[in-house]
Amino acid sequence: MSEKTQGEELKERLFNKKENGWKNVSDEEKEKIFNYCQGYMDFLNRSKTEREIVKNAEQMARERGYRDISEYDHLNPGDKVYYVNRGKNLYLAVIGTESIENGVNIIGSHADSPRLDLKPNPLYEDKEFAYFKTHYYGGIKKYQWTAIPLSMHGVIVKTNGEKVEVNIGENENDPIFTITDLLPHLAQDQMQKKLKDGVEGENLNLLIGSIPYNDSKVSEKVKLNILDILNRKYGITEKDFISAEIELVPAFRCRSLGFDESLIAGYGQDDKVCVYTSLTAILSIENPKRTAVCLLADKEEIGSMGNTGMESNVFSTFLSEVLNKLNINRPNLLDKVLCNSKMLSADVDAGLDPIYANVADLTNACYLNRGLGMNKYTGVAGKSNSSDANAEFLAYVRNIFESNNVDYQIAELGKVDKGGGGTIAYILANKGVDVVDCGVGVLSMHAPYEVTSKYDVYQAYKGYTAFYNA
Ligand code: MN
Ligand code: MN
Repeated sequence: MSEKTQGEELKERLFNKKENGWKNVSDEEKEKIFNYCQGYMDFLNRSKTEREIVKNAEQMARERGYRDISEYDHLNPGDKVYYVNRGKNLYLAVIGTESIENGVNIIGSHADSPRLDLKPNPLYEDKEFAYFKTHYYGGIKKYQWTAIPLSMHGVIVKTNGEKVEVNIGENENDPIFTITDLLPHLAQDQMQKKLKDGVEGENLNLLIGSIPYNDSKVSEKVKLNILDILNRKYGITEKDFISAEIELVPAFRCRSLGFDESLIAGYGQDDKVCVYTSLTAILSIENPKRTAVCLLADKEEIGSMGNTGMESNVFSTFLSEVLNKLNINRPNLLDKVLCNSKMLSADVDAGLDPIYANVADLTNACYLNRGLGMNKYTGVAGKSNSSDANAEFLAYVRNIFESNNVDYQIAELGKVDKGGGGTIAYILANKGVDVVDCGVGVLSMHAPYEVTSKYDVYQAYKGYTAFYNA
């Protein structure tokens, strides 16, 4: 071995070394990463919607000793508590040993992902095919949702309150559904259109059947046959779609990607990858110093509105109830707690895609396999609509990561003026919480099949756990 030159030594000391994390992973560590990610992929395969996420997360939490806040009369340090908001949004907390007045450590992700929802009057028949009309949810490239297998998840609630759960297309023996696309032979006009207009939102109609009901006297025989099947199976009539929430998601299974199996392909990794890593992080900790909070928000993909979205007051109500049950609540205490709180807004980052590298600033891009991706700010144009994290708080978070050997990077969402985006960060920041975006890099974000790196997923779990234990 030749000795390092002065310049080489200096460079090692002064540069922010950016490298592929796998280079420093031992065989033993690699096995740990792969095992952890197997758990993530299994979770993703049984949790494709926000309702399924919340249900499965609640079950995992209960197995770890968490109890619904209504089950506690008083809370004490070490107690594990949660609240489910309308089956779509979940808050979990472990009470810290230090006074909660000093603030809590929050990690917040979102459980909803881009998808297709059924319209309120979905069912119709056209030329002896039956269809469900859909309305897309979140930012999608519509052409990506045609000609792929789709599964149907959700609930139909009858006027007597009975809730029918629907889950068709995940089991190998289930049928699936699809939205057809035009054959290339006759697509001359379609191919001339702008990509965004190639498939119109109003044409995202789901093919659901083709056998006519056997009665020569009735019209709309195929529609009738479908309703007959649904009535026998679920006891519903057409009117019951009024009070239903049915989501169409890709029927693909989440799987390892690549000869080296280093990557993960799956639907809804935005933001279920941060859901799983922050959830397993909070479930792994006992008796933290600062009260640890994990929140799974809904409706992030459509602007965080509504009573299950982050803009609602339900999270504050949960924290107030925690203060009540600690027997310390008093006027304005919640405001004080929030102002002293720290948060990682756990949302995915746009991973650098070499095929589309022209939209990225390579010096400020989030690279897969380089660990957790932080974003000081998001927004569009001149950082508009962004919560720009404070340098002091970034130093605090860096220190946690660096002293716990968590591999991380900091990035921007694309080149200046190329576009932009946002997360739930600003909502908590408005309440006085110190927040920074911190998540996993993703390729093909918002597509039916998204790609992450197992190395990064594990770094997220490590980083989130360290944040809770700080
Ligand atoms: Mn997201
Ligand atoms: Mn998103």
